[in-house]
Amino acid sequence: MKFDFDFLVIGAGSGGVRASRIAAKHGARVAVIEKSDLGGTCVNLGCVPKKLFAYASQYHETSAQAQGFGWQFDNPRFDWTVLRNNKDKEIKRLNQIYEKLLIDAQVTIIHGAAEFVDPHTVRVENENYRAKYILIATGSHSFVPDLPGKDLAITSDLAFHLDALPHRAIIIGGGYIAVEFATIFNGLGVDTTLVYRDKLLLRGFDLTVREFIGQELQKKGIKLLSHHVPLAIDKTETELQVKFENETQATDLVFMATGRRANTVGLNLEAMVKKRDDGSIIVNDRYQTSADHIYAIGDVTGGPELTPLAIAQGHIVADNLFAGMNRRLQSTLIPTAVFCEPNIGTVGLSEEDARKQYGEVNVYQTTFRALKHTLSGSDEKTLMKLITDKKTDKILGLHMVGSDAGEIIQSLAVALQMGATKADFDHTLAVHPTLAEEFVTLR
Ligand code: NDP
Repeated sequence: MKFDFDFLVIGAGSGGVRASRIAAKHGARVAVIEKSDLGGTCVNLGCVPKKLFAYASQYHETSAQAQGFGWQFDNPRFDWTVLRNNKDKEIKRLNQIYEKLLIDAQVTIIHGAAEFVDPHTVRVENENYRAKYILIATGSHSFVPDLPGKDLAITSDLAFHLDALPHRAIIIGGGYIAVEFATIFNGLGVDTTLVYRDKLLLRGFDLTVREFIGQELQKKGIKLLSHHVPLAIDKTETELQVKFENETQATDLVFMATGRRANTVGLNLEAMVKKRDDGSIIVNDRYQTSADHIYAIGDVTGGPELTPLAIAQGHIVADNLFAGMNRRLQSTLIPTAVFCEPNIGTVGLSEEDARKQYGEVNVYQTTFRALKHTLSGSDEKTLMKLITDKKTDKILGLHMVGSDAGEIIQSLAVALQMGATKADFDHTLAVHPTLAEEFVTLR
């Protein structure tokens, strides 16, 4: 059979780009198909612009706190248009970097929407491309529950491009995106209400973290409404109204952050690969679908929907197919951060999961006021929690809510990956004065 390419990658997000570049480096003839901007969700409508907005949202509080250190910033003002336009410029720059990386790696970039014609042939804008192996790395899109008036709500895609910031916003959902955007909007001066259906935010995270972050967000001025499910959204001449079972809340913007779903519609995959009911593609531990030569990675496989995971998976697929390797993901430890303020950083098991899997565990925990806040006037608290297996002393989980928790957890994840015990942490000298030192001085 004659092929145009050895490897055809559908989707130039973080995972697809990594797979393409590594495969090309191994000598494969590679093409990547993208219907939108290079870089995918993370670069264009996710991690990167979100983090830039998160930085922006901190300046107001920081300038207020600076007074305790002797600084006066009179009448600080915020201009949304400046932030949004500067962010757009930076994203354009990143799109170009992605393009250059692909071109330098001799990957062919095909712009347009892909559709399978047969198991080895994909059509893009009336052109057919035949490939020996195909990788589906099409990512995911925001899911919005089907309720009357749902089109009046925005999702994270539009949140990055708003013409103006609203005075009031209701964010629906209690996951990563809801919590992150609640602190972004709140920090930028929007009167923000976070509405979620569970008792606590961030289902799946350690219970102490979930309780703690709720308290900290409220201290910052975010209103929390637990046990609330939206039933309908209405529009009047002046405002939006969200109806719940026993009440109606008025607002200027409704933001649905109610999870994501795999991007498989339009690919004509149905006869090709097996999917779950939610549309995500089923893969084995080498990311192979039910069709031997078709692989899938990242969000389209149903998650965890995290960029570093998609990148690692893409790299593995390329190594296995084109460098004769037999790799699988080495680790089941997935460090992660929620970039709210204060940050949440976590790696390993929650206390609840650790107890389920290991029976007896030891829990070390501290909450304290960071040194900075002795002068800043802020009543923000930091939480650190460490969970060990009672039998072996091995650390099973680390959790932090506090400044730079994402940065701190990234380093500690290496120790967990190496199987660190509590004794290893005890033998580690502290860096003083830091927040992170608390992890090696917990008793
Ligand atoms: P999440 O899955 O994290 O959270 C979805 C939220 O929506 C949950 O609180 C869920 O409630 C709620 N929900 C779902 N359906 C409904 C419904 N019908 N009515 C009311 N509430 C509903 O999704 P996100 O959209 O926040 O983010 C998607 C994924 O993207 C994340 O899971 C994460 O993997 C990734 N991401 C990672 C980030 C990071 O690494 N910092 C940042 C942003 C996103 P319940 O818990 O009750 O099911």
